[in-house]
Amino acid sequence: NTLAAQCKSKPQKKVCKTVLKHFDAQYSEELGEQWYSARDVLLNPLSWQYGVLLNRFSDLTNVKQWLAELGYTNLLPQTHPKSQTAHIPLQCFIHQDPVRIPTQSHHPSWLKQYFLLNAASLLPVLSLNLKEGENVLDLCAAPGGKSLAILQTVTPGLLQCNEVDRHRHDWLLKTLVSYVPPAQRHLLSVTHLDGRSIGSVQPGAYDKVLVDAPCSNDWSWLYTPDTNQGEMWLKERTQLPLLQKELLWSALAAVRPGGVVVYSTCTMSRAENQSVVEAVLASYQGVEPLELEQYLIDSLSDHFCFAHFHPSVGQLVIPQRDKTWGPMYVSRLRRIY
Ligand code: SAM
Repeated sequence: NTLAAQCKSKPQKKVCKTVLKHFDAQYSEELGEQWYSARDVLLNPLSWQYGVLLNRFSDLTNVKQWLAELGYTNLLPQTHPKSQTAHIPLQCFIHQDPVRIPTQSHHPSWLKQYFLLNAASLLPVLSLNLKEGENVLDLCAAPGGKSLAILQTVTPGLLQCNEVDRHRHDWLLKTLVSYVPPAQRHLLSVTHLDGRSIGSVQPGAYDKVLVDAPCSNDWSWLYTPDTNQGEMWLKERTQLPLLQKELLWSALAAVRPGGVVVYSTCTMSRAENQSVVEAVLASYQGVEPLELEQYLIDSLSDHFCFAHFHPSVGQLVIPQRDKTWGPMYVSRLRRIY
């Protein structure tokens, strides 16, 4: 198979020993046996997979046929498990083997048909439990994968996609233009603000807010090119929880009473996951944690491994040898008043 051959011919990524040593110490303590299986996946780039998120705004006939011929299947059921008449528009195709398909290039007169992503990144979007017409804020949006997934799920009243970094904000704009037709773009507002200030500028303005927080991405950090860089990142890691808490406080201020905030990261680190959410719950009045809906966990458990923590606020999808999606931590919070 030519695609598998192309992947194999790519230069091997080099593991940073400093970061691996740090992960071994931290994650064996936090995750126990599950760390060793996750470690195997992280250390074997040939086992990494991409989900294929289809763009409902483009013509999909040939893509669906092509994916079916390659052996891809839909990650999600076609109808809502709670109501057999409700159709789930979000379509993400996955393969049981690490097959790769090429990314599509940008063309001004054409919409891209699919977006490649870690299938576990759909979990935060599904956890928002979006309804048609809701006003949604994607606080940390670049490069735009989750904003796109939101638009595949419902037609929002307004979707504000925000990104603080100038270069990544431009990247976000480019993503949206490549996938969203001109007739739908009035639903979008793309801003370039520090997410920590949005809660005080637009208090109570949104029905749902997604905080897909900047975090110590376990995949890329493990492949830091040199030791100095690895040590620098490990230092930076200690500063992330404060930024994450500030973003989550801002999100809670930006959501209306009764509205829902989803906090997510792509790290397994407890300090950036449960500890952040617990600290915010302890310091912010009128907020309660919500369980992830059981039907979601049930319908995704064939593909995702949910780590076992008791008691816990949130769920962690942890890559394992037979279920390589993740890492992805998701916690849902409701503002009561
Ligand atoms: N949600 C994105 C997606 O699915 O494609 C990925 C988001 S990435 C995990 C986190 C983003 O937060 C980065 O692009 C980073 O530049 C941005 N960020 C960092 N600090 C921020 C801040 N203070 N306000 C808003 N965005 C911030």
